[in-house]
Amino acid sequence: MRLLLIGAPGSGKGTQAARLAERFGIAHISSGDLLRQHVRDGTSIGQRIRSYVDKGDLVPDSVVLDMLRKPVVAAVEAGGYVLDGFPRTVEQAQASFPVAHALGVEVQAAIHLDVGRDELVRRLLTRGRGSDDTTEVIEHRLQVYLDKTVPLLEYYANREWMFSVDGAKPPDDVHEDIVARLVKMAAFAGWAHEVSPDRAAPG
Ligand code: ADP
Repeated sequence: MRLLLIGAPGSGKGTQAARLAERFGIAHISSGDLLRQHVRDGTSIGQRIRSYVDKGDLVPDSVVLDMLRKPVVAAVEAGGYVLDGFPRTVEQAQASFPVAHALGVEVQAAIHLDVGRDELVRRLLTRGRGSDDTTEVIEHRLQVYLDKTVPLLEYYANREWMFSVDGAKPPDDVHEDIVARLVKMAAFAGWAHEVSPDRAAPG
């Protein structure tokens, strides 16, 4: 199974991705976590991108694309992925599609976690993750989301493999909503075995 999670900062992408990974036995790949790890480890990528991440700006596309290729291919060989945080722009979607298609690792379903702005700000202010979670940076990241990622949602809007769920509900409810939509979509698109009860162990 190959899934994308798209949502604003604070929409719960990380939480939902972790649950989907566990439920379906697929790898959770978070572009933000991988980038922050590079910064912490002081790798050459980390040094190059630190100021972007700290300011809440998007890291250059080539860095993210190169960073993700190996983990995505490895995940597909091991059963699938849920990708959290990528693609974040129309350009990233357009750049990655031919590569993913050629490698046979393109996405089967994209999930949009829909959460209103007030709730996003409330969650982000209580999260306190570090240097990219100050009030100013949070405001900036929300603006980057509006400018760059909302157009991506519009770009994907008519695709039958994309759907939105209400991300303001409690995490368990959001998870069940996502699974229900995936089961329906899988039946329709011919990958029902991938979300079968055997595979989708409850809890
Ligand atoms: P959130 O879900 O709170 O927005 P993420 O962990 O997804 O946070 O991302 C944190 C930071 O990592 C972003 O602000 C950005 O600097 C960088 N980043 C993550 N994914 C991408 C991406 N696909 N393209 C460019 N930069 C990214």
